[in-house]
Amino acid sequence: MARNRIQFQKGLSFREFNALYSTEEQCEAALEKMRWPDGFRCPRCDSQEYGLVHGRRHKRYQCRKCRHQATVTAGTVMEATKLPLTLWFLAFYLIGHAKNGISSLELSRHLGVTCNTAWLLHSKIMRSMSEREDAYVLRGRVQLDDAYLGGERPGGKAGRGSENKVPIVTAVSLNVAGKPIHTKNLPVRAFTSEEIGRWAQSCLGKGCAVLSDGLACFRSVIEAGCEHTVIVTGGRHPNDLPELRWINIVQSNLKTSLSGTFHAFNFEKYSKRYLGAFSFRFNRRFNLEKMTDRLLNAACCCGPRPERFLRQAELAA
Ligand SMILES: [Zn+2]
Repeated sequence: MARNRIQFQKGLSFREFNALYSTEEQCEAALEKMRWPDGFRCPRCDSQEYGLVHGRRHKRYQCRKCRHQATVTAGTVMEATKLPLTLWFLAFYLIGHAKNGISSLELSRHLGVTCNTAWLLHSKIMRSMSEREDAYVLRGRVQLDDAYLGGERPGGKAGRGSENKVPIVTAVSLNVAGKPIHTKNLPVRAFTSEEIGRWAQSCLGKGCAVLSDGLACFRSVIEAGCEHTVIVTGGRHPNDLPELRWINIVQSNLKTSLSGTFHAFNFEKYSKRYLGAFSFRFNRRFNLEKMTDRLLNAACCCGPRPERFLRQAELAA
């Protein structure tokens, strides 16, 4: 049997990671290069003339024109962090390389920080991953499916209206050879035409050829400028439909990843960031070697996300 080229790719070994990012200076230089590949630019006036002030932890850039002072982390999700950059980089590495994600508890053990610190770090990084995913739409051939995440809490109600159960839409785009390329996984408020219409507007490019097993609300992808083909199940279980093979595989990977790694989290509040982190890793699975860089980039593109913000419930797509 041919080796799976995704599973057997090289990746970045822990030794290689260590050689690249084990000191504060190395991490600071990598961050500087990621944010300002052509040299520092003042975030206030765009001037490239600056002087350096050596702060207590990291160097500060002072703009010669407007006197504004900036650090490498200012304006990113790492802004005002008290943690060393080496710890952030190690977290990028661990989160990016764990096939099924990593729990905050496990992260706290690897990093030697408290559970609360690890939760916050993890939430900030997952949030930056999910915001990065929000920027992309799926194009071409797309398979769609509905699912529920989570289930009953001990002592809670059972069934569809149960607490901590979140409706989600999973989608995967395929290339001309019929192989999966990108995925999008997002919570929705409900499986209604209006809600799916809104989802399609923000998640699908115009002219997508959508395939689904025919849940009525999926018809509203047509209003977002897509074609829609329904696969007639003909009494077969949706998981047995060869036409929808890839969406079934992605959905089952997602469920394995969430249930195996996280056991329980507050699905109602936080599902969006967990789904975003899963999608982020899936969509970059062809280049594991660059995963740490991609997470660093996501952290730089996302603005500061303080704890009080991260503790609020995330709205559905
Ligand atoms: Zn300036």
